[in-house]
Amino acid sequence: MVITNAAAALPGEKDFRKVDIGIQDGKIAWIRESGSPHEEAETIDAQGMLVFPGAIDPHVHFDEPGFTHREDFLHGSAEAARGGVTTVVDMPCTSLPPVTSLHALEHKLSVIREKALVDYAFYGGIHGGITPEKMREHVHALAERVVGFKCYFISGMDTFPAVDDAAFAAAIQACAEAGRPLLLHAEDPDVVEQAARERQQLRGSSAPQWIDYYATRPMEAEIAAVRRAVRLAGMHAKQLHIVHVGTAEAAKVAVGRGASCETCAHYLAFDEHDFMRHDAALKTAPPVKSPEQKALLWHMLQEGLIAFVASDHAGAPDYEKFTGNPLTAYGGIPGTGTMFPYLLSEGLFARRLTLARFLDVTSGAAARRYGIWQGKGSLAPGKDADIVLVNPERTTWFTPSSMMSKSTITPFAGMRLAGRIEGTFVRGQCVFAGQLLAARLGGTGNATLTSDAGAILARPGYGRFITWGYR
Ligand SMILES: [Zn+2]
Repeated sequence: MVITNAAAALPGEKDFRKVDIGIQDGKIAWIRESGSPHEEAETIDAQGMLVFPGAIDPHVHFDEPGFTHREDFLHGSAEAARGGVTTVVDMPCTSLPPVTSLHALEHKLSVIREKALVDYAFYGGIHGGITPEKMREHVHALAERVVGFKCYFISGMDTFPAVDDAAFAAAIQACAEAGRPLLLHAEDPDVVEQAARERQQLRGSSAPQWIDYYATRPMEAEIAAVRRAVRLAGMHAKQLHIVHVGTAEAAKVAVGRGASCETCAHYLAFDEHDFMRHDAALKTAPPVKSPEQKALLWHMLQEGLIAFVASDHAGAPDYEKFTGNPLTAYGGIPGTGTMFPYLLSEGLFARRLTLARFLDVTSGAAARRYGIWQGKGSLAPGKDADIVLVNPERTTWFTPSSMMSKSTITPFAGMRLAGRIEGTFVRGQCVFAGQLLAARLGGTGNATLTSDAGAILARPGYGRFITWGYR
């Protein structure tokens, strides 16, 4: 197959370049000047389209097996494809059993193997039930099958308790030996508890408001947790990755010691004033912070201090989200479908991010961090043909009926974004087709799933399990 007349976002280029892209056996075989002769019969004319490498979402909770009332791999990966994401990395804590043993990992794999529509990798879990003495053995047992490990300093999950100092120190040491990053949910439990007590006193017997939620997860909670983590990590700090940073100062402390950070689209798009409008649809942990923090996070992303953006996709049904109490509403939003479109519109098109930075933020940096750069993360010969076609002349009106995830409760609902995804290809196969492309490819009669945005054309199970060193 050849994608012709593509205005492609190639690595190392300042601007889009008009090329034809040859695809064989799921890989990019060649990239040549547009109009070069070729013998391929099957062509897709991308005239007028922008062509990007598929986005990598290195932080999703697809909840399978175990919590599929919230999300499952079929709907989660469909939503990913709709949003231009071609590879996801799933968290170990939100499946049952959690991915804390090879046995649990293989079980999870056997369940989702028949469902995933995009390629996927896993993190291994490190929780408070694993003693420091057992840590080395634990990490080494899983390392070959995962692209990193995940732990929490604060956890609301009975099945995945937080780690203490000794376990964290042992974990970072073991991860350094195994050559895998250790990901940390960085909010300090002592700061949160103290803040919660103070809010409780202030509130008395009146019903909790949104201020009572976000005031209990202040910036200091993130800063204190990152300080503690880099101190415990010591010489292994570069092995550390701080997930979903909402506070710029926390990111500064981390990168100052050689650790890496990610933020999420919601921390770039919203601030604490938006709770009044969005209610539980904006509830995440950590919560979004002040408008100043939002601006500082954009700045750090531009400068490359925050390495990349993830979605922290974590949907939940209405009855868990809208409990009428900000303190008990489920913390998490479905984001894998909004991440790339949001960054495209508000990052690249709005000129907050250069093309090179946009590519790094949406795919390149995560591919390098998680050991899959040889096979994914840019448009280059030899790599997987993971490709997103974007129509820059159209807009995306983000509505729940355009989504494919189980939960459609998101603060991005109603947003209008510049650019529209017309097609998402994973290893050369069209997984998601917008209305236009779907019509050209023969309609949506056999579609796996459809929404107002378009159709999923791949069979469940097309997505492939990948791990560190993938090429
Ligand atoms: Zn998460």
